[in-house]
Order: sequence, then structure tokens, then C-alpha cells
Amino acid sequence: MTGTALSPPARAKFADPDRTATGEPRARVSLHALETLWVNTGSLCNISCATCYIDSSPRNDALAYIGADEVAAYLAEIAELGLPTRLVGLTGGEPFLNPDILPILTAILAAGHDALVLTNAMRPMMRHAGALAGLAARYGARLRLRVSLDHYTAAGHDAERGAGSFARTLEGLRWAAGAGIALDVASRLLGSEGEAELRAGFARLFAAEDLPVDAADPLGLVIFPQMDATADVPEITDRCWGILGKSPREVMCASARMVVKRRGAARPAVLACTLLAYDPRFELGTRLSEAMGPVALAHPHCATFCVLGGASCGAPRGEA
Ligand code: SF4
Ligand code: SF4
Repeated sequence: MTGTALSPPARAKFADPDRTATGEPRARVSLHALETLWVNTGSLCNISCATCYIDSSPRNDALAYIGADEVAAYLAEIAELGLPTRLVGLTGGEPFLNPDILPILTAILAAGHDALVLTNAMRPMMRHAGALAGLAARYGARLRLRVSLDHYTAAGHDAERGAGSFARTLEGLRWAAGAGIALDVASRLLGSEGEAELRAGFARLFAAEDLPVDAADPLGLVIFPQMDATADVPEITDRCWGILGKSPREVMCASARMVVKRRGAARPAVLACTLLAYDPRFELGTRLSEAMGPVALAHPHCATFCVLGGASCGAPRGEA
């Protein structure tokens, strides 16, 4: 028979966990060590931000409030398996809306882990001011807050988070600094402003407010890239690591997992990372022991945020 060979049917990008659309082996990341366990405390938030990557709002309860008993079961599993988990991070939504937030935090610290809470430092946090100051007095810098401040100006921050939110978050930051609670700030690149300009602006704000945060320290002031869910992004193949000079160990799913409780689910699930809370392909099991396998980088965020965007396991992405 003569004639032209038929081309294989075109496949969609990011659809097949094993192969890219061009048929190349998709990159996979093995869990090197579970250094950080993230717990999503629930997707509800007291505010609604323009660019919240997890779509939190006062109405989005797709991720339910996780209970203290459920978190305790994961802490027990870490101990049983002898995992080297130094840090347990709490993200949301706004973690301080979770009715069990204090027993959760206390259990994490009492079990010997460091605790990091990602918060907007607004009224939900201030409701727990006395108890938080008590935990900080007992556990020192093992309790840390990472406060989201999208910009060093009220206008820039409020454009993302609503009028008056900058002033309320700054009030929370001043209180936390005065209470001796260890602090980081998380911001993001917005518009055309570059990282150097952003860090310089935050340095001025921290100095004026006497806040103990070093704007030049990439872990003290964490700056996230913009994520454009509509952009056409390249897929990551096995060959990309060598081409980019990057190690799979540098991306979050090599050293972390995230626990979520989906609305209506009988028990929480363990996900590959904090970035893909709603994609069931990144759900690895219900126990940590079921979630130790490699992760196929089959989502646009894997490329834009982790491999090409420069996020590291030291600066994991989360909200509030
Ligand atoms: S988004 Fe990043 S951390 Fe999450 S699975 Fe993809 S590469 Fe891993
Ligand atoms: S970015 Fe943070 S504060 Fe804003 S809606 Fe999302 S979780 Fe809430």
C-alpha cells in the first residue's frame, strides 16, 4: 500500500499523566522527604480578593473546616512513620476562621513541629489575640505568622483586597509585632513593578512602622509571581531539568504535601502540594503513607509557577 502515513491524533496538553501532547515522557517529581506538611483549614475567608489563587471568599466552602482530631491523626502518623517533618503550615481561606484553630495550633507545637499560619491578620486573627500571645510566649519563634500584604501602599493592596483592608492588616501586623510573634510578609508581583522596586517599597514601610521584617530576605518578604490561568504554557518533560539547570528537588512536591477536607467528604485527603487544591488528579490518598509516590507534573501551574516561575520549597505558596 502506498500513501502518506497518518499522523497520530493531536492530544490535549496536560491531559496524560505520562506523556506530553508531543508524546515525550512527562516530568515526575519524587518525594525526597516530607519536610513540610500543609493543612488547608478551609476555603472560607472573611474577604474576597481579586487574585486569590484558591478562590476563597465568604461563600466558598468547597474545602470544609478541618477538625482538630483530623489534624491530630496526621501528626500521629508523622510520628509513627518517623517522617522528618519540621514544619506544619496552615493555609486557607483565612485559617483563623476555623473554629478549631487554637487546638490545631497547640497540637502542632506540642508535638514538636514549627507552625506557620498564613493569614490576612484581620479581625478573625485578632479574635484570638490573647491566646496567640500566650502561644508565642510559650513556644517563641516556633510559631510564625505569614501575613499577606499585596503591596506597600494602601491603594495597591486595597485594589486587590477591598477598601480599608490595608489599614486593618497593618493594625494586625503592628499588634503581632508588639506581642513578640515571629512574622513574615507575603506579597506578589502586580502590574509592571519589578521585584527590586517592590522590596524597596516594603523596606520603607517596615522601617516606618517599626516592623521586624527584613524586606531583602526572600523568606522574610516572600514575593510570588502572577499566575495567569489562561496563558498557553509549555509542558515540562524529563529533558527540561537539564535544559533549565533545575533539580526536581527544588519544587514543592519534592518536600511537601497538603491535607484538605472537601465539603461532604468522610475524611480528609492528601494532595501533592498547595497549588492544586481542586484538581482530583493531584489527590494521592487519605493517609500520608498513601501519598509518598511520585507526582506527574500534569498541570499548567507546574510549569508556570514551579519549574519556570522559580518557586522553591522554602517559599511554598498558600493563602490567605
Ligand atoms: S504545582 Fe508545583 S508543587 Fe504542585 S504538583 Fe506541580 S510541580 Fe509539584
Ligand atoms: S487571597 Fe487570602 S485573604 Fe484574599 S480571599 Fe484568598 S485566602 Fe482570603
